[in-house]
Amino acid sequence: MKRVCIAGAGLAGLYLAVALARRGIAVQLHERREASELGLTEDAKRRSIALALSHRGLHALGSLGLEARASEIGRRMLGRVIHQASGELAFSAYDPTGQGRILAVQRAELYELLADAARREPLVTLRFGQGLRDWAHGEDGQVQVRFDNLAQPATFDALLGADGADSRTRATLERQRGVAFQRVDFEQAYKEVRLRVAPRPAGQDGLHIWPRDEVMLIGLPGRQAGELDGTLFLPRAAEAAWFGLDAAALQQRFATLFPDLQLPAGEAQALRSRPLGRISTIEGGPWCDGPVLLVGDAAHAVTPFLGQGMNCALEDCELLLDCLDQASGFAPAFQAFYQQRREDAQALGQMSTRNLQEMMVETRTPAYARQKQLEAWLATRFPGVFLPSYSAITFDRMPYAKVLRMKTLQEALLARLQTASGEPPAAAQAEREVAAYQAAFSSLMAE
Ligand code: FAD
Repeated sequence: MKRVCIAGAGLAGLYLAVALARRGIAVQLHERREASELGLTEDAKRRSIALALSHRGLHALGSLGLEARASEIGRRMLGRVIHQASGELAFSAYDPTGQGRILAVQRAELYELLADAARREPLVTLRFGQGLRDWAHGEDGQVQVRFDNLAQPATFDALLGADGADSRTRATLERQRGVAFQRVDFEQAYKEVRLRVAPRPAGQDGLHIWPRDEVMLIGLPGRQAGELDGTLFLPRAAEAAWFGLDAAALQQRFATLFPDLQLPAGEAQALRSRPLGRISTIEGGPWCDGPVLLVGDAAHAVTPFLGQGMNCALEDCELLLDCLDQASGFAPAFQAFYQQRREDAQALGQMSTRNLQEMMVETRTPAYARQKQLEAWLATRFPGVFLPSYSAITFDRMPYAKVLRMKTLQEALLARLQTASGEPPAAAQAEREVAAYQAAFSSLMAE
């Protein structure tokens, strides 16, 4: 029986453990943290409490038979609820067809869903508090792995590094292959914050956004109506100016900047001492070296502004399993996976960072509302021809690199069809421009 080591019992690591075990592979899953620290505690303090789970992630979970459970724990988000500084509130539907699904899920609940599936697999051994220290190539194409708190290394047929943005699997790969990945510590940082808002009318709830000059506050629907799991994004340099305030002054700042929300009792005080989360991106490659492969954030962490990091990590797992099913061994499957996926990861990185500009700046302008209206009009008028790029990312599995190129074509089309009044363009002009767009799009998809 083949034996695989997975470093990191995050969402990608747990997913792969379940899927490989079901293929008759013995999996040893090593997690740096103790079992008691997972899910609810450290992770939830450090990173977002809630996540947007959309089509790619749901599709991957469906392959493990977990989609229905994930849907039960999630709350559907139908669009963006934009809270302007003027007090004006605008709802912009995510999917003009009304079909696409984005769910707000608690990170801890999703984690538990996958951990529970892993615990049920007899071929999975979970080792908490035993993180990967480093690895080396062994004999006969195997890999030797050393762990914290264990004197002896262990030998496996393959090693999957699902150990997140600070991956030690990646650090060893960089040393072994003499390559360097680029890590960018992003200027924006974040704090989790619990919020209350007036409950939204049926069919008009979703991701709340308060775009302001220096900061952006977002909120995903929580467990109760009107409760939001929020994240305040702010420049790192502004930390002291915000959280050096006492609780009353911080509460007042929220009331001034975001007058249509409330902080629950004690939240301003708790917020001051909650750690500031850092955002780092990872780019580079190769992600593999013989029987060793990086997946998820370990290979390609992106900024969170498109809500795709986890969705992409879960899609990675699904695509990797396809490669393993088709290839004759771990090393060729890992190489095939890297070749297939690297451009997609780069494209997602670019689009995610670019989306901060859209959320923070463009959502505040009338041109943004007009563009969204035009996109919705084109999607309805030319179904199957015009798929807004956001929909292709969130409600489809089109490779991210193709989405990026399609987005460029669409930006040109939208610029040609935009009218000053926001009214739809003349039908004949739209037909002509969309036909030209369709021809360019078809050749892109054929590549
Ligand atoms: P991780 O979740 O980072 O898991 C890695 C695991 O490896 C951890 O358990 C860690 O403890 C463990 N580990 C680390 N080092 C070692 C070691 N040496 N040995 C063993 N184990 C180790 N994505 C979305 O799709 N939608 C969203 O809405 C969204 N919102 C986000 C909001 C914020 C503020 C942030 C920061 C991220 C967001 N993301 C979102 C991205 C998402 O959190 C990540 O992309 C996702 O968690 C990646 O999963 P992973 O399994 O690859 O890595």
